[in-house]
Amino acid sequence: MVRLILSTAVLFSLMSCGRNAANIQTNIQSSIEANAESTTHTDWETSDYHPKFLFENLRQDLTEAESDADSLKIKKDLCAAFKNLSDDTLSIFETEIRSEENSALVKDCKNLLISRLNTQSLNDRAGLKYSTDAYSTEASNIDFKLETKVISNDQYLSFNKYGNSVAEKEIILTFDDGPHDAFTSSILKTLKEAGNAKAMFFELGKQIYKYPQETRDVHAQGHVVANHSWSHSCLNNTEVCRKNNKGRLLTDDQVTSEIVDTYNLIRKTIGKIAPFFRFPYGDNRASTSSYLKKAGVLEMSWNADSNDWRYNQKVGSETIPFTSKEVLVSALRSIDKNNRGVVLFHDIHRRSAEILPQFLYELYKRNFKLIILDQNEIEPNLEILKQSTAAATAETVVEIPKTK
Ligand SMILES: [Zn+2]
Repeated sequence: MVRLILSTAVLFSLMSCGRNAANIQTNIQSSIEANAESTTHTDWETSDYHPKFLFENLRQDLTEAESDADSLKIKKDLCAAFKNLSDDTLSIFETEIRSEENSALVKDCKNLLISRLNTQSLNDRAGLKYSTDAYSTEASNIDFKLETKVISNDQYLSFNKYGNSVAEKEIILTFDDGPHDAFTSSILKTLKEAGNAKAMFFELGKQIYKYPQETRDVHAQGHVVANHSWSHSCLNNTEVCRKNNKGRLLTDDQVTSEIVDTYNLIRKTIGKIAPFFRFPYGDNRASTSSYLKKAGVLEMSWNADSNDWRYNQKVGSETIPFTSKEVLVSALRSIDKNNRGVVLFHDIHRRSAEILPQFLYELYKRNFKLIILDQNEIEPNLEILKQSTAAATAETVVEIPKTK
């Protein structure tokens, strides 16, 4: 028993040591491979090598560093690992590089990295007829107008959640996981320039809490602020969700709070709530779905995925860039096939904001019109939603240890 405890302690110390130094480069490479190998957004968001987890570990290492020399080494190794990357793979780490939270970690190379990221983003969109710089407030070259039809009737609950029931040549444009402090406003600017085009924004409570003005701007410009949970945890009670939540299943109580707390914050921020909800990862919990419907909330999914989170792909055994053009092809593939539907982008990715002008142009060329569902007079019944907790049998929260 003593031996077991000792060896676990030794192993643990080796693991955290390894994370500090030589392994930084290996982990950065593993992150690039994980992005290329992920088949779904869920795979990527929950990968142990997702940059948000790598940087979380690095911040912890920096806090725990025992000497100035140790912390200097972490920063030096990280900058060296980025120096070895090509510009296109660097984009995977853009959010973390720019984040204030990580400024101590990348302080010595941040300016250089940002300049490389800007060059990369310029090159990536160079072949597009229409595009924008997400960090610029200058007007773009958009010279077309996309019509938007607002659908507001009490039949909205019978809408097919994948978008198969909208009329031909009609598209609902959706942006998930925001608001973001830079990209949401860039997207709003583009939509305005393209004839006041309208979209539905499925926002997270934790993001609205950070950036309430962006949510107010979305609403003020006539878009729909919809609910996408508070924390983006996987809300279903399956093994897939357990893995996604690092060994944890949410109780019915917690699922209800994810939805109701977000609604309460949306009401506080813009004065109203809209009856639309999208489960994180599109992974719905059956018991919650039935209560959403009873509460007058339409659950929405999508049938066209832009894969805007992907920066690399596997072709044979090779890892090659997944370019902006390929994001556009990915978004348009299902639209061309189904001739209608709901398309998924994320307003937390720089690239999604930058290629939006071209995507809207592609819709315009194909004679599509945008539609949004906007139930101005109908709000969800939160009291009914809260009953879902009382009615369901409480589940046991089981914690299982992280394997990595
Ligand atoms: Zn999401």
